[in-house]
Amino acid sequence: KLPRIAWIGLGVMGSPMAENLLKAGYPVTGHTLEPHKLDRLAAAGGTPAGSVREAVARADVVVTMLPADPEVTAVAHGDDGILANARPGALFVDMSSISPRTSTALATAGAPRGVRVLDAPVSGGEAGAIEGTLSVMCGGERADFEEVAPVLRTLGTTVVHCGPHGSGQTVKAANQLIVAANIQACAEAVVFLTKSGVDLAAALDVLGGGLAASAVLDRKRENFLGREYPPGFRIDLHHKDMGIVTSAAREVGAVLPLGAVVATLVAAARAQGDGALDHSALLRGVERLSGG
Ligand code: NAD
Repeated sequence: KLPRIAWIGLGVMGSPMAENLLKAGYPVTGHTLEPHKLDRLAAAGGTPAGSVREAVARADVVVTMLPADPEVTAVAHGDDGILANARPGALFVDMSSISPRTSTALATAGAPRGVRVLDAPVSGGEAGAIEGTLSVMCGGERADFEEVAPVLRTLGTTVVHCGPHGSGQTVKAANQLIVAANIQACAEAVVFLTKSGVDLAAALDVLGGGLAASAVLDRKRENFLGREYPPGFRIDLHHKDMGIVTSAAREVGAVLPLGAVVATLVAAARAQGDGALDHSALLRGVERLSGG
């Protein structure tokens, strides 16, 4: 019998991920702040819940897909939270991208209540969530990972146990460093090519066939060509992630010069009012620096 899932956070990522579980036959009860997302869950065969408490009460596996550390902490703790209301023995899988430190603290808080905690952030964007092709990076007890792996494999194609509590988040922070630096490099190339009068579509074609090829160059191609940045992954969320990698790297004495520059450029994009755009809008920052 498939485990009963409680899903908290039905946003850009959470909605299609929960729907993939429903398609695979898992019973899913969901809770989120936007009523229309609850209607969408019901239309897909899920059960909407009016509160976290109601959503998690009967669940075998509780998944959170929330924006950031404060939301995960708020939903986990307190009288109405996951830890107080999940049944002992339940698995709490946080798939949001938060700091490794907060993830480790959640695991520590869950232990005396008999709630086992895993961190399992993802990469692959909205398209990966819809197609069920995410990369899932998991931290926590290996036995707990093995138990929930069939659920995670419904959501992603690359599902890897990375080590103890927090390590999934550490790998995700590294992922966000690579992606932001890659977008910035592509954006600089786009401005350079455009100002040089080279046909951009042709340039991106040939770049994509050589060592410069990347998932960013491939999947953000239309954004770069059309200068359109519908989210996708918002600059605001990437700003949060650059904060996570910056402080986690400080804690372990890793020095990230390129990371520091890119974190500043992401912060600048946000300060210039681009926070709600897709992170490919780093291109707008390079255009501003180059005078348009
Ligand atoms: P989103 O803002 O679209 O969705 C967040 C959801 O959480 C919303 O539906 C909101 O109602 C819900 N929520 C917030 N506070 C809540 C609360 N107190 N109780 C119940 N529900 C609450 O965000 P998203 O783009 O889906 O991203 C979610 C997480 O996944 C983030 O940590 C993000 O960094 C990460 N992520 C996003 C992408 C992407 O491409 N969008 C890719 C990989 C990872």
